[in-house]
Amino acid sequence: MPAALETQVGIVGAGPAGLLLAHLLHLNGIDSVIVERRDRDYVIDRVRAGVLEQGTVDLLMAMGVGEGVRSRGLRHDGLYVSFKGQRHRVDLADLTGGKAITVYGQNEVVRDLIDARLETGRPLYFEADRVAVDGLDSDRPVIRFDHDGQDHELRCGFIAGCDGFRGICRPSIPAAALNVYERTYPFGWLGILAEAAPACEELVYTLHDRGFALFSMRSPTVTRLYFQVPPDESIDKWSDDAIWAEMLTRMTTRDGWAPNVGRIIQKGVTPMRSFVAAPMRHGRLFLAGDAAHIVPPTGAKGLNLAASDVLVLARAFKGFYKCGRTDWLDEYSAVCERRVWKAQRFSWWMTSSMHRFPDETAFDRQRQIADLDYLTSSRAAMTSLAEQYVGLPAEVSFESAGLPQ
Ligand SMILES: Cc1cc2nc3c(=O)[nH]c(=O)nc-3n(C[C@H](O)[C@H](O)[C@H](O)COP(=O)(O)OP(=O)(O)OC[C@H]3O[C@@H](n4cnc5c(N)ncnc54)[C@H](O)[C@@H]3O)c2cc1C
Repeated sequence: MPAALETQVGIVGAGPAGLLLAHLLHLNGIDSVIVERRDRDYVIDRVRAGVLEQGTVDLLMAMGVGEGVRSRGLRHDGLYVSFKGQRHRVDLADLTGGKAITVYGQNEVVRDLIDARLETGRPLYFEADRVAVDGLDSDRPVIRFDHDGQDHELRCGFIAGCDGFRGICRPSIPAAALNVYERTYPFGWLGILAEAAPACEELVYTLHDRGFALFSMRSPTVTRLYFQVPPDESIDKWSDDAIWAEMLTRMTTRDGWAPNVGRIIQKGVTPMRSFVAAPMRHGRLFLAGDAAHIVPPTGAKGLNLAASDVLVLARAFKGFYKCGRTDWLDEYSAVCERRVWKAQRFSWWMTSSMHRFPDETAFDRQRQIADLDYLTSSRAAMTSLAEQYVGLPAEVSFESAGLPQ
């Protein structure tokens, strides 16, 4: 006999989307259970996003889980765009009335949120096996899973599918009920973490004749760097020396600026994809974050979209459980999709402007350089970049999701 459990909102996945949603619900006095297939260390140690929009930082603060980002996050008021051997600064704060981005590793965000969850005493099952969802069209959907050798059946008011791109929730929706929009790119990113003090206080996006490169950081002693490679590139092809040679070739500018070199402590290749599955709701299953959409990392939007989705979802569940409203549940997908598509467009544009494509012509190449020349010399163009990079406003207020403004 499976162990029988009940909750208002069953959450599949303890990534940023699942953990943020769980805490938002907790703050509203709404019960939830999180079911995560990996162990706690694996979930925390995954090296992924690092750039938080202003709105994501504000959300963490308003939720009372912002102490880490406040004390250890690195606020950036600007970024650089580099081409033809020259860096050009875009002053994000000046162009957006004081908004900025904050560099704070996704693993730190997840660690803070797991700590907050455990403090609430509400359930979070790590290492759940054979997770499956059922009864999505009924008013009592179920999450089934094994934990410590025991079958569990979790009866839910709603299920939040926060289980990432390769999770089980999206594939549980009948294919005919979902529209899927997808673009793959003919390149991936080779990324490293290195024990080296960042040589610049802000991110540097570079378009070089050999392809895209990105200088970034995780802390005052750790540099995070990427460069464009073919999509199926094996990381084994690249010795540490070869990686540094390529990084320095692409990033060094005419004035002699270059990243500091140090011991490489992590490396890998990530493919690039744009993907949206909509609507983000089927019956009583609501998809949020990477379970519903993926962006190429160039615009640094993935984690931030997960945060804005769950703000909208928390409002919907709060409306239902506190006031019996169903209109916010019904609007959920449409509200999220508007922001998702703007972030998709921005991420596609950043990617297209700054990468070399295998089939590009000499005309394409000159147009791309002209794009960046225009971008870095026009206040209007820089303002457009800046307002999207720090994050477009959320349609849903913190107050409507039960948080102080
Ligand atoms: C290399 C890399 C760099 C990135 N850089 C950036 C960046 O700079 N800025 C940015 O904003 N975004 C970035 N992203 C994207 C960002 O990491 C994701 O958008 C973000 O993790 C999405 O959060 P999520 O909670 O939706 O999904 P995830 O973080 O994928 O979390 C899903 C969770 O569900 C769990 N799960 C999966 N299947 C099951 C199952 N069957 N049962 C139970 N649990 C399950 C997973 O173990 C995981 O813990 C990057 C991503 C990568 C890979």
